[in-house]
Amino acid sequence: TERTLSIIKPNAVAKNAIGAILGRFEAAGLHVVAARMLHLSREQASAFYAIHQGKPFFEELVGFMTSGPVMVQVLEGDDAVAKNRDIMGATNPANAAPGTIRADFADSFTENAAHGSDAPETAEIEIAFFFPEGVCP
Ligand code: ATP
Ligand code: MG
Repeated sequence: TERTLSIIKPNAVAKNAIGAILGRFEAAGLHVVAARMLHLSREQASAFYAIHQGKPFFEELVGFMTSGPVMVQVLEGDDAVAKNRDIMGATNPANAAPGTIRADFADSFTENAAHGSDAPETAEIEIAFFFPEGVCP
C-alpha cells in the first residue's frame, strides 16, 4: 500500500465538485486517510510549487492556486500515486482521456482541477507539507 497527496484545486471547489472528485477516488479503491480545507497564501503556494519557480506559467499558477479555497487530502491504497494520476488524466486537459477528472472538471491548462504527487518520494514531502503533525496510521 502507498500514500499520495491530492489537492482539489480552486476551480473545482468553486464548481461544487469536491464530492464528485472524492467519489472517483473512493470508487477506484483509494481511501481518504487525512483531509483539510484551506485558502493557500502566496507563500504557501509558492513553496508548494517551488520546483516550478521561474517557469513562464509560475505566476499564473500561484495566482490561481490562491484564488479560493482548496481541499487537500491524503489518499491511501495499492499504487496510490500512479492510480491517482490515472484518475486525474493528463496535466493538459486537452490531452486528458475521457472520463478523467481533468477532462471533466478542468477549465484550462493551469486551472486543471486537481493535483497529485508525481512519485512516492514526492508524496512523502508533500504530505508532510500539509500534515506536519502526521497522518493517522
Ligand atoms: P500537479 O503538480 O498540479 O499535479 P502535474 O504534475 O500534472 O500537475 P506539473 O508539471 O507539476 O504538472 O505542473 C504543475 C501545475 O502547473 C499543473 O497542474 C498546471 O496547473 C500548471 N501548469 C503546468 N504546465 C503548465 C503550462 N505549460 N501552462 C499552464 N499551466 C501549467
Ligand atoms: Mg506536478
